[in-house]
Amino acid sequence: MPKSINPANGDVIEDYAEHSDADVERALENAELAYRDWRRTPFSRRAALLNRTADILEKRKDELARIATLEMGKRLKEAVAEVEKCALGCRYYAEHGEAMIANDERPGPASQNYVAYLPIGPVLAVMPWNFPYWQCFRFIAPSLMAGNVGLLKHASNVSQCALEIEKVMLEADAPQGVFQTLLISSKKVEPILRDRRIRAATLTGSEGAGSAVASTAGSEIKTTVLELGGSDPFIVMPSADLDKAVDVGVTARMQNNGQSCIAAKRFIVHADVYDDYTARYREKLEAMTVGDPMDEATDIGPLAMRSGVEDLTDQIDRSVKTGATLTTGGAIEGKGCYFKPSMLENVGEEAPAYRDELFGPCAIFFKVTSIDAAIDLANDSDFGLGGSVWTNEAGEIERFVRDLDQGSTNVNRMTASDPRLPFGGVKRSGYGRELSKEGIHAFMNAKTVTIA
Ligand code: NAP
Repeated sequence: MPKSINPANGDVIEDYAEHSDADVERALENAELAYRDWRRTPFSRRAALLNRTADILEKRKDELARIATLEMGKRLKEAVAEVEKCALGCRYYAEHGEAMIANDERPGPASQNYVAYLPIGPVLAVMPWNFPYWQCFRFIAPSLMAGNVGLLKHASNVSQCALEIEKVMLEADAPQGVFQTLLISSKKVEPILRDRRIRAATLTGSEGAGSAVASTAGSEIKTTVLELGGSDPFIVMPSADLDKAVDVGVTARMQNNGQSCIAAKRFIVHADVYDDYTARYREKLEAMTVGDPMDEATDIGPLAMRSGVEDLTDQIDRSVKTGATLTTGGAIEGKGCYFKPSMLENVGEEAPAYRDELFGPCAIFFKVTSIDAAIDLANDSDFGLGGSVWTNEAGEIERFVRDLDQGSTNVNRMTASDPRLPFGGVKRSGYGRELSKEGIHAFMNAKTVTIA
C-alpha cells in the first residue's frame, strides 16, 4: 500500500498495511450476511442511520477536514465544506429516498401492475482521492437507502480518510457489514469484482481504471456506473457579464487546487472579448497566494501527489513544444507539491493540452469567432462531463443546451454537483448517473409485478 504523504511538505504521515486475503474474505462474508437483513429493513431505519451519519459528520467536520488536508492537500476550508456536503447528501436521501423508490403503478394486463424497486446486493465502490469524502458519501447515501450494502476500495494515498469513513458509519450504528473499507491495491479489485457476492461496482477515477473495472464487470454480467475524467469547456460569448465570468472562471478552474473532474479546463472565449477576458484572468491568477493548505489566507494549496506535478509539467512542456504559450504559472521547486496557477494560450490541435485532461491548476485558452466554432471546439473532445456557458442571448443558450455533448450544461454559473440533481457524463467521461432519483435507481432491480 503506498504511504500517506503530506503533499505540503513531503512528510510521511503513515504507512498502512494492506488488508490480507483473509481480511477481504471476511469482509465479503460480512457484506453478504449484512445484506440479507439490511435489504428487509424498513425505510425509517435506513433513514435514521443516514441522519445519524449526518450528525456525526457535522460534529466531526473540523477533525475530518484536517485529515483530508493533511493527506491530499486540499485547502482546509474546502475540506470542511466537503464534509458538510456529505452530511447534506445523507440528509437528502434520508428525507427523499423512500419516495424515489416507492412502488410505481402502471397500466398493464393484470388488475394490479406495478414496478417494485428492490436492492441488488453488495456494491463495490472504487474511489479517487480528490474529494476523498464526498465521492464516497455520494455513493453510500443512496446505496444504503436503497437497501444495498457497500464495500469501499479508496485511492491508496487517502487510506486515513477511507478508515475514517468506516469509523463514521460504525459510530452511526451501521450494522456490521453494511459498510466496510478495504485497504487494498488496485490489483485486488478484479478478483473481488469476480466474487459472486459482489453484485455491481461504481468507479470514479481515470479512464484507464474505469475501463479495467467495466471490462471485468462486463465479463461477469455485473452493472457498473463510471464517473471518469473530463476536460470541461467554459465558453464566454460577447454578451456575458465579464466581471462575473472572470471571477467564476478562476474559481471553476482553481477549486480543489485545480484537481476536479468538473473543473473548467478549456476556456473558449469569443474574439470580441478575448483580450479583455484573458488579461483580467491573468491578473487574478497572479494575485493568488500559493501555500500551506491549512492557512486561511491560502488560495491554492499543493497538488495531492508528486506525480501530479510531474504529469502537469510534462503536459505543459510538450504543449509548448507544439507552439502553445505558458503566459503565466509553472511548477514551484521544493519538497511540497506546489504549482502556480497557470494559463496556456495558443493551443493547437497537436498539443497534448488540446485533447488530454490537465489535472492541476492550468487553464487552457482558445479564441473563436462564432457560436458554431465554440460548439465545434467544445465537442471536439473525447470527454463529455459538464460545461459552463456565459451569454445573455436566449438563442445562444438554446443552442448550447441542445448542441453541447455533455452530462450537464450550466448557464452563467459554474458546474457543481448537487444531491438534488443527477450527475454524470457522456462519451469517455463515463456512463450512468449519481445523485438525485437517478442515483438511487442506479443499483436497483426494477421488478415488474403483475397481480391477476
Ligand atoms: P485513478 O488512478 O483512476 O484512481 C481512482 C481509483 O481507481 C483509485 O481507488 C485507484 O486505486 C483505482 N484504480 C486505479 N487503477 C485501477 C485498475 N486498473 N483497476 C481497479 N482499480 C483501479 O484516478 P485518480 O488519479 O485517483 O483520480 C483522478 C481522475 O479521476 C481524473 O481523471 C478525474 O477527472 C477523475 N474524477 C472523476 C470524477 C467524476 O465524478 N466523473 C470525480 C473525481 C475524479 P489506487 O489508488 O490504489 O491506484
